[in-house]
Amino acid sequence: MTDARSPFDGPDQPWVGITGSTLDRADHLRRDPGSMVALRSRPDARWLVMDNLKPVLTQGENPDILWAHRSDVPHDAVSVFLGLSGSADGGAPRFAAAAPAADLVALSGGQVIDARAAAAMLGDGRAEIVAQARSLLDWHARHQFCAACGAATRLGKAGYSRTCQGCAAEHFPRTDPVVIMLAIKGDHALVGRQPNFPKRFFSALAGFVEPGESLEEAVARELYEEAGIRVGKVRYLASQPWPFPSSLMIAAFAEGLNLDITLDTDELEEARWVTKDDVRAALAGTGDWLAPPPMAIAHTLLKSWVC
Ligand SMILES: [Zn+2]
Repeated sequence: MTDARSPFDGPDQPWVGITGSTLDRADHLRRDPGSMVALRSRPDARWLVMDNLKPVLTQGENPDILWAHRSDVPHDAVSVFLGLSGSADGGAPRFAAAAPAADLVALSGGQVIDARAAAAMLGDGRAEIVAQARSLLDWHARHQFCAACGAATRLGKAGYSRTCQGCAAEHFPRTDPVVIMLAIKGDHALVGRQPNFPKRFFSALAGFVEPGESLEEAVARELYEEAGIRVGKVRYLASQPWPFPSSLMIAAFAEGLNLDITLDTDELEEARWVTKDDVRAALAGTGDWLAPPPMAIAHTLLKSWVC
């Protein structure tokens, strides 16, 4: 007897916002300073300028990333390598730089846009490029000094490390895992709202993974801490970079074992069990509560549950 089941049986991976970048991150080039000098000098090299962590986009009905020339970027700006563009563009080098954008905007007619709004506008993988640039540049801004000895650090590996000038410790960009989960019991799913959410807005519960904890344990702990829900099975769905500043959202379904909710009012203002019909109405904008927008992975979770 052979077992024909494969780990890849079941539904395809769902669409997730802020993913799908077409850049080749080309790690092998980051380690070679000579390659980087050559890439920066290429006539087709372009920069995504981030002014105070906000991207510069083109104007118009469908804004795109405004890819600036090297001469538009101040020489002393922190600059990081994003990757090589797709083969259709000839594998052109793409960088991001932290710099004031007033001159660039005046010269090219671009606009500086809040990064969340930009991610919602861009879609199609370009939001992930903004996410990559924002998380990296934010990390450089906050890691000017060594966490081990306090001496100044210097950018290395084209933006993917910082080396301490005092003790030579090498530091790497952080990604902080966050679990976001939909507890399911029978034909109900649990949604909640934090006090700072817009009026009537509910989402899946979420929380940071703690040191020394698996993702499954983080899902179970957060649901119990925030809502008093005990958890059985946990099933991974998908993940998403969330560059505010450097999270990785890990979405899962969790088997709820009880229906009675005990709210942690420091974290949540309200939590409720909703049906698939409730969720379909909320996703369609016709419910009595508001669901997260398509860009958010909580939207993907809710949509995957009702589909
Ligand atoms: Zn040090």
